[in-house]
Amino acid sequence: MTSTATDHTTATSADRALITARHLINGEWLGEADTERMNPARPGELAALSPSGTAADVDAAITAAAAAQPAWAALPAPSRGAILMAAGNLLLDRQTAIAEDLVREEGKTLAEAKGEVKRASDVLRFFGSLGWAATGEVLPSGLPDTTITTRREALGVVGLITPWNFPIAIPAWKSAPALISGNAVVIKPAELTPLSATHLARALQDAGLPAGVFNVVHGKGRVVGDALARDPRIAGLSFTGSTAVGLGLQEILNARRARVQLEMGGKNGVLVLDDADPRKAAKVVAAGAFGLTGQACTATSRVYVTPGIRAAFLEALTGEAAAYTPGDGMDAAMGAVVSPQQFEQNQAAVRSAVERGAVLLAGAYDGDPAGPLLFPAAVLTELPFDDAAVTEEIFGPVVAVLEVADYEAGLAAINDSRYGLTAGICTDSLALSTDFAARAQAGVIKVNRPTAGLDLNVPFGGVKDSSTNTFREQGKSALDFFTWGKTVYTGV
Ligand code: NAD
Repeated sequence: MTSTATDHTTATSADRALITARHLINGEWLGEADTERMNPARPGELAALSPSGTAADVDAAITAAAAAQPAWAALPAPSRGAILMAAGNLLLDRQTAIAEDLVREEGKTLAEAKGEVKRASDVLRFFGSLGWAATGEVLPSGLPDTTITTRREALGVVGLITPWNFPIAIPAWKSAPALISGNAVVIKPAELTPLSATHLARALQDAGLPAGVFNVVHGKGRVVGDALARDPRIAGLSFTGSTAVGLGLQEILNARRARVQLEMGGKNGVLVLDDADPRKAAKVVAAGAFGLTGQACTATSRVYVTPGIRAAFLEALTGEAAAYTPGDGMDAAMGAVVSPQQFEQNQAAVRSAVERGAVLLAGAYDGDPAGPLLFPAAVLTELPFDDAAVTEEIFGPVVAVLEVADYEAGLAAINDSRYGLTAGICTDSLALSTDFAARAQAGVIKVNRPTAGLDLNVPFGGVKDSSTNTFREQGKSALDFFTWGKTVYTGV
Protein backbone atom coordinates (compact mmCIF):
# COMPACT_ATOMS: atom_id res chain seq x y z
CA MET A 1 0.00 0.00 0.00
CA THR A 2 1.28 3.49 -0.83
CA SER A 3 1.10 6.49 1.48
CA THR A 4 -1.97 7.84 -0.33
CA ALA A 5 -5.24 7.68 1.58
CA THR A 6 -7.27 4.53 1.09
CA ASP A 7 -10.97 4.82 1.79
CA HIS A 8 -12.07 1.42 3.04
CA THR A 9 -15.28 1.59 1.05
CA THR A 10 -13.31 1.93 -2.19
CA ALA A 11 -10.13 0.01 -1.34
CA THR A 12 -9.21 -2.44 -4.07
CA SER A 13 -8.69 -6.08 -3.20
CA ALA A 14 -4.94 -5.54 -3.80
CA ASP A 15 -4.91 -2.71 -1.23
CA ARG A 16 -6.82 -4.88 1.21
CA ALA A 17 -4.45 -7.82 0.76
CA LEU A 18 -1.51 -5.59 1.63
CA ILE A 19 -3.05 -4.44 4.89
CA THR A 20 -4.44 -7.83 5.95
CA ALA A 21 -2.96 -9.56 8.97
CA ARG A 22 -3.60 -13.27 9.55
CA HIS A 23 -2.76 -15.74 12.27
CA LEU A 24 0.53 -17.56 11.74
CA ILE A 25 0.08 -21.12 12.97
CA ASN A 26 2.59 -23.85 12.14
CA GLY A 27 3.97 -21.77 9.28
CA GLU A 28 0.52 -21.22 7.67
CA TRP A 29 -1.20 -17.83 7.37
CA LEU A 30 -4.76 -18.48 8.51
CA GLY A 31 -8.01 -16.84 9.58
CA GLU A 32 -10.76 -14.73 8.07
CA ALA A 33 -9.66 -11.10 8.45
CA ASP A 34 -12.97 -9.63 9.58
CA THR A 35 -11.86 -6.96 12.07
CA GLU A 36 -11.27 -3.45 10.70
CA ARG A 37 -8.73 -1.06 12.17
CA MET A 38 -9.14 2.56 11.10
CA ASN A 39 -6.36 5.16 10.81
CA PRO A 40 -6.65 7.35 13.95
CA ALA A 41 -5.48 10.46 12.05
CA ARG A 42 -7.85 9.96 9.09
CA PRO A 43 -11.40 8.97 9.99
CA GLY A 44 -12.83 6.53 7.45
CA GLU A 45 -9.45 5.32 6.18
CA LEU A 46 -8.90 1.61 6.68
CA ALA A 47 -5.47 0.91 8.18
CA ALA A 48 -5.56 -2.85 8.77
CA LEU A 49 -7.72 -5.98 8.72
CA SER A 50 -7.19 -8.90 11.05
CA PRO A 51 -8.87 -12.11 12.20
CA SER A 52 -10.55 -12.41 15.56
CA GLY A 53 -8.96 -15.50 17.06
CA THR A 54 -10.63 -18.14 19.21
CA ALA A 55 -9.50 -20.48 21.96
CA ALA A 56 -9.27 -23.16 19.24
CA ASP A 57 -6.75 -21.01 17.34
CA VAL A 58 -4.69 -20.65 20.51
CA ASP A 59 -4.84 -24.42 21.05
CA ALA A 60 -3.63 -25.06 17.49
CA ALA A 61 -0.80 -22.52 17.86
CA ILE A 62 0.39 -24.05 21.15
CA THR A 63 0.20 -27.55 19.67
CA ALA A 64 2.37 -26.41 16.74
CA ALA A 65 4.81 -24.65 19.07
CA ALA A 66 5.12 -27.68 21.35
CA ALA A 67 5.86 -29.92 18.36
CA ALA A 68 8.47 -27.56 16.89
CA GLN A 69 10.27 -26.56 20.09
CA PRO A 70 12.56 -29.59 20.75
CA ALA A 71 14.19 -29.45 17.30
CA TRP A 72 14.56 -25.68 17.59
CA ALA A 73 16.24 -25.99 20.99
CA ALA A 74 18.51 -28.71 19.60
CA LEU A 75 19.75 -26.46 16.80
CA PRO A 76 23.15 -24.95 17.72
CA ALA A 77 22.62 -21.53 19.27
CA PRO A 78 24.73 -19.76 16.60
CA SER A 79 22.41 -21.24 13.95
CA ARG A 80 19.37 -19.92 15.82
CA GLY A 81 21.16 -16.60 16.06
CA ALA A 82 21.86 -16.48 12.33
CA ILE A 83 18.11 -16.67 11.65
CA LEU A 84 17.40 -13.83 14.09
CA MET A 85 20.13 -11.71 12.50
CA ALA A 86 18.76 -12.39 9.02
CA ALA A 87 15.28 -11.40 10.20
CA GLY A 88 16.73 -8.20 11.68
CA ASN A 89 18.34 -7.38 8.34
CA LEU A 90 15.02 -7.97 6.55
CA LEU A 91 13.24 -5.54 8.88
CA LEU A 92 15.83 -2.93 8.01
CA ASP A 93 15.40 -3.57 4.27
CA ARG A 94 11.66 -3.09 4.75
CA GLN A 95 11.95 -0.25 7.27
CA THR A 96 10.02 2.46 5.41
CA ALA A 97 7.13 0.27 4.25
CA ILE A 98 6.68 -1.21 7.73
CA ALA A 99 6.95 2.22 9.36
CA GLU A 100 4.22 3.58 7.09
CA ASP A 101 1.90 0.73 8.08
CA LEU A 102 2.77 1.40 11.72
CA VAL A 103 1.89 5.11 11.39
CA ARG A 104 -1.45 4.26 9.82
CA GLU A 105 -2.46 1.72 12.43
CA GLU A 106 -1.00 3.34 15.57
CA GLY A 107 -0.77 7.06 14.81
CA LYS A 108 2.80 7.95 15.83
CA THR A 109 5.05 10.03 13.56
CA LEU A 110 6.92 8.48 10.65
CA ALA A 111 10.27 9.37 12.28
CA GLU A 112 9.18 7.61 15.48
CA ALA A 113 7.88 4.63 13.53
CA LYS A 114 11.09 4.33 11.50
CA GLY A 115 13.06 4.49 14.73
CA GLU A 116 10.89 1.77 16.18
CA VAL A 117 11.39 -0.54 13.19
CA LYS A 118 15.13 0.09 13.43
CA ARG A 119 14.95 -0.79 17.12
CA ALA A 120 13.16 -4.06 16.35
CA SER A 121 15.84 -4.84 13.77
CA ASP A 122 18.66 -4.02 16.19
CA VAL A 123 17.05 -6.12 18.93
CA LEU A 124 16.87 -9.16 16.63
CA ARG A 125 20.51 -8.69 15.64
CA PHE A 126 21.65 -8.13 19.24
CA PHE A 127 20.02 -11.33 20.49
CA GLY A 128 21.08 -13.14 17.33
CA SER A 129 24.70 -12.31 18.13
CA LEU A 130 24.22 -13.80 21.62
CA GLY A 131 23.97 -17.18 19.91
CA TRP A 132 27.76 -17.09 20.13
CA ALA A 133 27.89 -15.94 23.77
CA ALA A 134 28.55 -18.16 26.77
CA THR A 135 25.47 -18.75 28.93
CA GLY A 136 26.90 -20.77 31.83
CA GLU A 137 29.71 -20.70 34.35
CA VAL A 138 32.43 -23.07 35.47
CA LEU A 139 32.65 -23.21 39.28
CA PRO A 140 35.25 -24.81 41.55
CA SER A 141 34.24 -27.89 43.53
CA GLY A 142 35.38 -28.97 47.00
CA LEU A 143 35.51 -32.54 45.70
CA PRO A 144 38.58 -33.91 43.89
CA ASP A 145 38.47 -34.42 40.10
CA THR A 146 35.10 -32.76 39.87
CA THR A 147 33.96 -29.94 37.61
CA ILE A 148 30.83 -27.91 38.23
CA THR A 149 29.10 -26.10 35.40
CA THR A 150 25.87 -24.19 35.19
CA ARG A 151 23.55 -24.37 32.21
CA ARG A 152 20.53 -22.37 31.07
CA GLU A 153 17.69 -24.44 29.57
CA ALA A 154 14.77 -23.19 27.49
CA LEU A 155 11.40 -23.03 29.26
CA GLY A 156 9.63 -24.71 26.31
CA VAL A 157 6.61 -22.92 24.85
CA VAL A 158 6.19 -19.32 25.99
CA GLY A 159 3.26 -16.93 25.57
CA LEU A 160 3.70 -13.23 24.79
CA ILE A 161 0.95 -10.61 25.11
CA THR A 162 1.80 -7.14 23.81
CA PRO A 163 0.28 -3.63 23.74
CA TRP A 164 -0.33 -1.28 20.82
CA ASN A 165 2.06 1.55 21.72
CA PHE A 166 5.29 -0.08 20.47
CA PRO A 167 3.61 -2.57 18.18
CA ILE A 168 6.76 -4.00 16.57
CA ALA A 169 9.51 -3.17 19.10
CA ILE A 170 7.85 -4.86 22.08
CA PRO A 171 7.01 -8.07 20.16
CA ALA A 172 10.64 -8.07 18.97
CA TRP A 173 12.20 -7.47 22.39
CA LYS A 174 10.17 -10.30 23.90
CA SER A 175 10.48 -12.73 20.97
CA ALA A 176 14.21 -12.40 20.33
CA PRO A 177 15.42 -13.48 23.80
CA ALA A 178 12.77 -16.21 23.86
CA LEU A 179 13.88 -17.61 20.50
CA ILE A 180 17.65 -17.38 20.99
CA SER A 181 17.17 -19.34 24.23
CA GLY A 182 15.49 -22.19 22.34
CA ASN A 183 11.86 -21.54 23.19
CA ALA A 184 8.93 -21.67 20.78
CA VAL A 185 6.59 -18.69 20.88
CA VAL A 186 2.87 -17.97 20.68
CA ILE A 187 2.24 -14.23 20.58
CA LYS A 188 -1.00 -12.30 20.88
CA PRO A 189 -0.46 -8.76 19.56
CA ALA A 190 -2.70 -5.84 20.51
CA GLU A 191 -5.99 -5.72 18.58
CA LEU A 192 -5.37 -2.12 17.47
CA THR A 193 -2.04 -2.86 15.76
CA PRO A 194 -2.14 -6.25 14.02
CA LEU A 195 0.03 -5.33 11.01
CA SER A 196 3.20 -4.43 12.87
CA ALA A 197 3.51 -7.81 14.59
CA THR A 198 2.69 -9.45 11.27
CA HIS A 199 5.73 -7.76 9.73
CA LEU A 200 7.89 -9.24 12.48
CA ALA A 201 6.43 -12.70 11.86
CA ARG A 202 6.96 -12.37 8.12
CA ALA A 203 10.61 -11.37 8.58
CA LEU A 204 11.25 -14.35 10.87
CA GLN A 205 9.56 -16.69 8.42
CA ASP A 206 11.42 -15.24 5.41
CA ALA A 207 14.69 -15.57 7.35
CA GLY A 208 14.13 -19.31 7.59
CA LEU A 209 12.63 -19.84 11.04
CA PRO A 210 11.18 -23.38 11.03
CA ALA A 211 7.37 -23.68 10.95
CA GLY A 212 5.74 -23.72 14.38
CA VAL A 213 8.58 -21.99 16.24
CA PHE A 214 6.89 -18.59 16.10
CA ASN A 215 3.09 -18.41 16.02
CA VAL A 216 0.78 -15.39 16.03
CA VAL A 217 -2.87 -15.40 17.10
CA HIS A 218 -4.74 -12.11 16.72
CA GLY A 219 -7.89 -11.18 18.58
CA LYS A 220 -9.39 -9.99 21.81
CA GLY A 221 -7.41 -10.05 25.01
CA ARG A 222 -10.14 -11.65 27.07
CA VAL A 223 -10.49 -14.47 24.48
CA VAL A 224 -7.06 -15.11 22.95
CA GLY A 225 -4.92 -13.67 25.75
CA ASP A 226 -6.93 -15.46 28.41
CA ALA A 227 -6.73 -18.82 26.60
CA LEU A 228 -2.96 -18.38 26.25
CA ALA A 229 -2.53 -17.62 29.95
CA ARG A 230 -4.63 -20.59 31.05
CA ASP A 231 -3.07 -23.28 28.86
CA PRO A 232 -0.87 -25.55 31.00
CA ARG A 233 1.54 -26.05 28.08
CA ILE A 234 2.58 -22.38 28.34
CA ALA A 235 5.62 -22.51 30.63
CA GLY A 236 6.03 -18.76 30.90
CA LEU A 237 4.01 -15.70 29.95
CA SER A 238 5.55 -12.30 29.31
CA PHE A 239 3.02 -9.46 29.24
CA THR A 240 3.25 -5.73 28.60
CA GLY A 241 0.13 -3.63 29.04
CA SER A 242 -2.09 -2.09 31.67
CA THR A 243 -1.68 -2.82 35.35
CA ALA A 244 -5.26 -4.06 35.74
CA VAL A 245 -4.91 -6.70 33.01
CA GLY A 246 -1.40 -7.66 34.11
CA LEU A 247 -2.36 -8.31 37.72
CA GLY A 248 -5.27 -10.49 36.56
CA LEU A 249 -2.90 -12.55 34.41
CA GLN A 250 -0.48 -12.90 37.32
CA GLU A 251 -3.18 -14.63 39.37
CA ILE A 252 -3.85 -17.11 36.56
CA LEU A 253 -0.16 -17.94 36.09
CA ASN A 254 0.58 -18.07 39.82
CA ALA A 255 -2.29 -20.50 40.32
CA ARG A 256 -0.46 -23.07 38.21
CA ARG A 257 2.99 -21.89 39.34
CA ALA A 258 4.07 -20.93 35.83
CA ARG A 259 6.54 -18.15 35.25
CA VAL A 260 5.12 -14.68 34.60
CA GLN A 261 6.74 -11.38 33.65
CA LEU A 262 4.66 -8.20 33.74
CA GLU A 263 5.56 -4.73 32.48
CA MET A 264 2.65 -2.43 33.23
CA GLY A 265 1.69 1.17 33.82
CA GLY A 266 3.69 4.17 34.90
CA LYS A 267 3.25 7.66 36.32
CA ASN A 268 6.75 8.89 35.80
CA GLY A 269 7.90 12.00 37.62
CA VAL A 270 10.73 14.47 37.04
CA LEU A 271 12.19 16.73 39.72
CA VAL A 272 13.47 20.09 38.41
CA LEU A 273 15.76 21.89 40.85
CA ASP A 274 16.64 25.59 41.05
CA ASP A 275 20.18 25.00 39.77
CA ALA A 276 18.98 23.52 36.44
CA ASP A 277 18.84 25.49 33.18
CA PRO A 278 15.08 26.09 32.74
CA ARG A 279 15.19 25.85 28.92
CA LYS A 280 17.18 22.61 28.94
CA ALA A 281 14.93 21.15 31.64
CA ALA A 282 11.83 22.12 29.63
CA LYS A 283 13.22 20.34 26.54
CA VAL A 284 13.93 17.22 28.61
CA VAL A 285 10.43 17.24 30.12
CA ALA A 286 8.69 18.00 26.81
CA ALA A 287 10.50 15.19 25.00
CA GLY A 288 9.51 12.78 27.76
CA ALA A 289 5.93 14.02 28.04
CA PHE A 290 4.90 14.76 24.44
CA GLY A 291 7.16 12.54 22.34
CA LEU A 292 5.30 9.46 21.06
CA THR A 293 2.11 11.49 21.76
CA GLY A 294 2.67 10.70 25.44
CA GLN A 295 1.69 7.11 24.69
CA ALA A 296 4.70 5.51 26.36
CA CYS A 297 4.78 3.66 29.65
CA THR A 298 7.93 5.66 30.41
CA ALA A 299 6.39 9.06 29.50
CA THR A 300 6.83 11.98 31.89
CA SER A 301 3.45 12.91 33.35
CA ARG A 302 4.22 14.80 36.57
CA VAL A 303 6.91 17.36 37.28
CA TYR A 304 7.92 18.82 40.63
CA VAL A 305 9.76 22.17 40.54
CA THR A 306 11.46 24.12 43.28
CA PRO A 307 10.31 27.77 43.73
CA GLY A 308 13.31 29.56 42.18
CA ILE A 309 12.94 27.95 38.75
CA ARG A 310 9.17 27.53 38.59
CA ALA A 311 8.22 30.61 36.53
CA ALA A 312 11.05 30.32 33.99
CA PHE A 313 10.53 26.57 33.63
CA LEU A 314 6.76 26.91 33.07
CA GLU A 315 7.30 29.59 30.45
CA ALA A 316 9.86 27.44 28.62
CA LEU A 317 7.70 24.29 28.88
CA THR A 318 4.65 26.12 27.51
CA GLY A 319 6.77 27.21 24.56
CA GLU A 320 7.99 23.65 23.99
CA ALA A 321 4.42 22.32 24.10
CA ALA A 322 3.45 24.58 21.19
CA ALA A 323 6.09 22.88 19.02
CA TYR A 324 4.40 19.49 19.45
CA THR A 325 1.56 20.24 17.06
CA PRO A 326 -0.48 17.09 16.48
CA GLY A 327 -1.34 15.83 13.01
CA ASP A 328 -1.22 12.86 10.66
CA GLY A 329 1.96 11.06 11.70
CA MET A 330 3.11 10.97 8.08
CA ASP A 331 4.15 14.63 8.31
CA ALA A 332 3.34 16.00 11.80
CA ALA A 333 5.54 16.96 14.77
CA MET A 334 3.34 14.86 17.08
CA GLY A 335 1.22 11.90 16.03
CA ALA A 336 -2.42 11.02 16.63
CA VAL A 337 -3.99 9.48 19.71
CA VAL A 338 -4.49 5.76 19.14
CA SER A 339 -8.28 5.45 19.60
CA PRO A 340 -11.43 7.47 20.32
CA GLN A 341 -11.51 5.86 23.80
CA GLN A 342 -7.97 7.03 24.57
CA PHE A 343 -8.79 10.48 23.11
CA GLU A 344 -11.81 10.80 25.41
CA GLN A 345 -9.70 9.58 28.34
CA ASN A 346 -7.16 12.36 27.65
CA GLN A 347 -9.96 14.94 27.38
CA ALA A 348 -11.65 13.77 30.57
CA ALA A 349 -8.38 13.85 32.53
CA VAL A 350 -7.65 17.46 31.52
CA ARG A 351 -11.26 18.67 31.76
CA SER A 352 -11.80 17.26 35.25
CA ALA A 353 -8.50 18.68 36.51
CA VAL A 354 -9.54 22.12 35.21
CA GLU A 355 -12.99 21.73 36.79
CA ARG A 356 -11.24 21.05 40.09
CA GLY A 357 -9.30 24.32 39.76
CA ALA A 358 -6.17 23.46 37.77
CA VAL A 359 -4.80 26.03 35.32
CA LEU A 360 -4.27 24.84 31.74
CA LEU A 361 -1.19 26.64 30.39
CA ALA A 362 -1.10 24.79 27.06
CA GLY A 363 -3.49 22.45 25.29
CA ALA A 364 -7.24 22.03 24.89
CA TYR A 365 -9.85 19.38 25.55
CA ASP A 366 -12.68 20.25 23.20
CA GLY A 367 -11.81 18.11 20.14
CA ASP A 368 -14.31 15.75 18.48
CA PRO A 369 -13.53 12.05 19.08
CA ALA A 370 -15.31 11.29 15.79
CA GLY A 371 -12.77 13.41 13.87
CA PRO A 372 -9.00 13.03 13.47
CA LEU A 373 -7.71 12.10 16.93
CA LEU A 374 -5.41 15.09 17.33
CA PHE A 375 -4.88 16.07 20.94
CA PRO A 376 -2.65 19.09 21.61
CA ALA A 377 0.13 18.80 24.17
CA ALA A 378 -1.26 19.88 27.57
CA VAL A 379 0.45 21.53 30.54
CA LEU A 380 -1.51 21.67 33.81
CA THR A 381 -0.48 23.52 36.96
CA GLU A 382 -2.00 24.77 40.23
CA LEU A 383 -3.39 21.37 41.16
CA PRO A 384 -3.21 19.41 44.41
CA PHE A 385 -0.73 16.55 44.85
CA ASP A 386 -3.53 14.01 45.13
CA ASP A 387 -5.40 15.15 42.00
CA ALA A 388 -6.16 12.24 39.67
CA ALA A 389 -4.16 13.99 36.92
CA VAL A 390 -1.13 13.70 39.21
CA THR A 391 -1.69 10.17 40.50
CA GLU A 392 -3.39 8.19 37.68
CA GLU A 393 -1.83 7.13 34.38
CA ILE A 394 -3.41 9.12 31.50
CA PHE A 395 -1.30 7.72 28.63
CA GLY A 396 -1.54 10.92 26.60
CA PRO A 397 0.51 14.12 26.02
CA VAL A 398 -0.47 15.66 29.36
CA VAL A 399 1.91 16.83 32.06
CA ALA A 400 1.12 18.25 35.51
CA VAL A 401 3.62 20.69 37.08
CA LEU A 402 3.61 21.14 40.87
CA GLU A 403 5.78 23.22 43.20
CA VAL A 404 7.82 21.62 45.98
CA ALA A 405 9.78 23.45 48.68
CA ASP A 406 13.11 21.68 48.14
CA TYR A 407 14.92 18.53 47.00
CA GLU A 408 13.69 16.35 49.88
CA ALA A 409 10.06 17.35 49.35
CA GLY A 410 10.44 16.67 45.61
CA LEU A 411 11.97 13.24 46.18
CA ALA A 412 9.16 12.36 48.58
CA ALA A 413 6.59 13.46 45.98
CA ILE A 414 8.27 11.40 43.23
CA ASN A 415 8.14 8.32 45.48
CA ASP A 416 4.54 8.91 46.59
CA SER A 417 3.08 6.80 43.78
CA ARG A 418 1.74 3.29 43.26
CA TYR A 419 3.98 3.14 40.16
CA GLY A 420 7.76 2.99 39.86
CA LEU A 421 8.88 2.62 36.26
CA THR A 422 11.13 5.61 35.48
CA ALA A 423 12.04 8.79 37.38
CA GLY A 424 14.08 11.82 36.39
CA ILE A 425 15.92 14.77 37.87
CA CYS A 426 17.18 17.96 36.21
CA THR A 427 20.07 19.44 38.17
CA ASP A 428 23.74 20.36 37.90
CA SER A 429 24.41 18.87 41.35
CA LEU A 430 26.35 15.63 41.22
CA ALA A 431 25.63 15.06 44.91
CA LEU A 432 21.86 15.41 44.55
CA SER A 433 21.63 13.44 41.32
CA THR A 434 23.62 10.63 42.93
CA ASP A 435 21.36 10.70 45.98
CA PHE A 436 18.32 10.68 43.68
CA ALA A 437 19.63 7.67 41.76
CA ALA A 438 19.96 5.81 45.06
CA ARG A 439 16.66 6.82 46.69
CA ALA A 440 14.13 7.27 43.87
CA GLN A 441 11.80 4.26 43.75
CA ALA A 442 11.88 3.41 40.04
CA GLY A 443 13.53 0.82 37.83
CA VAL A 444 15.14 3.41 35.55
CA ILE A 445 16.61 6.76 36.64
CA LYS A 446 17.34 9.56 34.20
CA VAL A 447 19.56 12.52 35.15
CA ASN A 448 19.09 15.47 32.75
CA ARG A 449 17.59 13.08 30.16
CA PRO A 450 13.93 12.36 29.21
CA THR A 451 12.22 9.60 31.21
CA ALA A 452 11.19 7.90 27.96
CA GLY A 453 13.69 6.09 25.77
CA LEU A 454 16.24 3.39 26.61
CA ASP A 455 19.07 1.68 24.81
CA LEU A 456 18.41 -1.91 23.77
CA ASN A 457 21.26 -3.38 25.82
CA VAL A 458 20.19 -2.21 29.28
CA PRO A 459 17.93 -3.94 31.81
CA PHE A 460 14.42 -2.49 31.72
CA GLY A 461 11.61 -2.83 34.25
CA GLY A 462 10.06 -1.17 37.25
CA VAL A 463 8.95 -1.63 40.83
CA LYS A 464 5.60 -1.44 42.66
CA ASP A 465 2.58 -1.69 40.33
CA SER A 466 4.72 -1.04 37.23
CA SER A 467 6.33 -4.45 37.04
CA THR A 468 6.64 -7.88 38.57
CA ASN A 469 10.11 -6.65 39.60
CA THR A 470 11.56 -10.13 39.22
CA PHE A 471 12.87 -10.58 35.70
CA ARG A 472 14.04 -7.56 33.71
CA GLU A 473 13.46 -7.14 29.97
CA GLN A 474 16.01 -6.14 27.33
CA GLY A 475 19.75 -6.56 27.22
CA LYS A 476 21.27 -9.81 28.43
CA SER A 477 18.99 -9.72 31.49
CA ALA A 478 16.10 -10.62 29.21
CA LEU A 479 17.49 -14.15 28.88
CA ASP A 480 16.82 -14.90 32.55
CA PHE A 481 13.05 -14.99 32.18
CA PHE A 482 13.13 -17.31 29.18
CA THR A 483 15.50 -19.88 30.67
CA TRP A 484 15.88 -21.90 33.85
CA GLY A 485 19.14 -22.70 35.57
CA LYS A 486 20.76 -26.07 36.18
CA THR A 487 23.92 -27.04 38.08
CA VAL A 488 25.92 -29.98 36.72
CA TYR A 489 28.61 -31.98 38.59
CA THR A 490 30.97 -33.94 36.38
CA GLY A 491 33.50 -36.34 37.91
CA VAL A 492 36.26 -38.13 36.07
P1 NAD B 1 -4.01 -3.50 27.74
O1 NAD B 1 -3.67 -4.05 29.09
O2 NAD B 1 -5.38 -3.09 27.49
O3 NAD B 1 -3.65 -4.57 26.62
C1 NAD B 1 -2.37 -5.16 26.53
C2 NAD B 1 -2.52 -6.52 25.88
O4 NAD B 1 -3.25 -7.36 26.77
C3 NAD B 1 -3.31 -6.49 24.57
O5 NAD B 1 -2.76 -7.41 23.65
C4 NAD B 1 -4.69 -6.95 25.01
O6 NAD B 1 -5.43 -7.54 23.98
C5 NAD B 1 -4.34 -7.95 26.08
N1 NAD B 1 -5.42 -8.19 27.05
C6 NAD B 1 -6.42 -7.35 27.41
N2 NAD B 1 -7.23 -7.96 28.30
C7 NAD B 1 -6.74 -9.20 28.50
C8 NAD B 1 -7.14 -10.31 29.31
N3 NAD B 1 -8.21 -10.25 30.10
N4 NAD B 1 -6.38 -11.42 29.28
C9 NAD B 1 -5.28 -11.49 28.51
N5 NAD B 1 -4.87 -10.50 27.71
C10 NAD B 1 -5.58 -9.35 27.71
O7 NAD B 1 -2.96 -2.31 27.48
P2 NAD B 1 -2.86 -1.39 26.17
O8 NAD B 1 -3.99 -0.43 26.21
O9 NAD B 1 -2.66 -2.21 24.95
O10 NAD B 1 -1.49 -0.63 26.45
C11 NAD B 1 -1.40 0.47 27.29
C12 NAD B 1 -0.87 0.08 28.65
O11 NAD B 1 0.35 -0.63 28.51
C13 NAD B 1 -0.54 1.25 29.54
O12 NAD B 1 -0.99 1.03 30.85
C14 NAD B 1 0.98 1.31 29.52
O13 NAD B 1 1.56 1.92 30.62
C15 NAD B 1 1.32 -0.12 29.41
N6 NAD B 1 2.66 -0.30 28.85
C16 NAD B 1 3.67 -0.69 29.68
C17 NAD B 1 4.96 -0.83 29.20
C18 NAD B 1 6.07 -1.26 30.12
O14 NAD B 1 7.10 -1.73 29.63
N7 NAD B 1 5.93 -1.15 31.43
C19 NAD B 1 5.24 -0.63 27.85
C20 NAD B 1 4.19 -0.22 27.02
C21 NAD B 1 2.90 -0.09 27.54
